Amino acid sequence: MGILNICIDIDGTITEPYYWLSLANQYFNTQLKPKDVTIYEIHKLLGVEEYEYDQFYYLFGELLHKEAMIRSGAKAIINELYNHHLVHFVTARQEIMRAVTLEWLANHQIPMDSITMLGSNEKAQQAKALGCDIFIEDRYENAIQLSQAGFDVLLFDCNYNKGALPANVTRVRTWVQIEKIIQNRFFINNKLDIAL
Ligand SMILES: [Mg+2]
Repeated sequence: MGILNICIDIDGTITEPYYWLSLANQYFNTQLKPKDVTIYEIHKLLGVEEYEYDQFYYLFGELLHKEAMIRSGAKAIINELYNHHLVHFVTARQEIMRAVTLEWLANHQIPMDSITMLGSNEKAQQAKALGCDIFIEDRYENAIQLSQAGFDVLLFDCNYNKGALPANVTRVRTWVQIEKIIQNRFFINNKLDIAL
């Protein structure tokens, strides 16, 4: 098993996790800072109803995704991973955001083997369909769900995902760290292949 199927979330994983804040602050007349984003349900932080946030996202979602900042190291390391493994993006973004998502990935020169726009946070089924070996994610609930379905997860550390983690979920802070973990696994797998 030399080639790994690497599943990667998009928002908060290859994008900066708080890129939506300044536009949301303008729209809702709030002054939230990254340190205030301690839960994933954005509308609760903004003190508005879910439909109000959905309205904001309906108006500005495409612009937000278009202008999203990329996380440091993501481009170089995903390119490196792509040279040796299969890279599958699995995002909760809706189908309607496919064009802006593909444009953003192309602009940032991020290669991939597949992309799935789930429109929901039910990622375990798609992970299974892709034969996922490792899933890189930032949403705590997704990490737990994937873990319970038997998948290994690397959870990108954020202010909103600080909960306790099961053994098959590893908290990571940088893309460099992710690359090292995957390289180690690849090396160990290779050694096992040789031993067998
Ligand atoms: Mg995410």
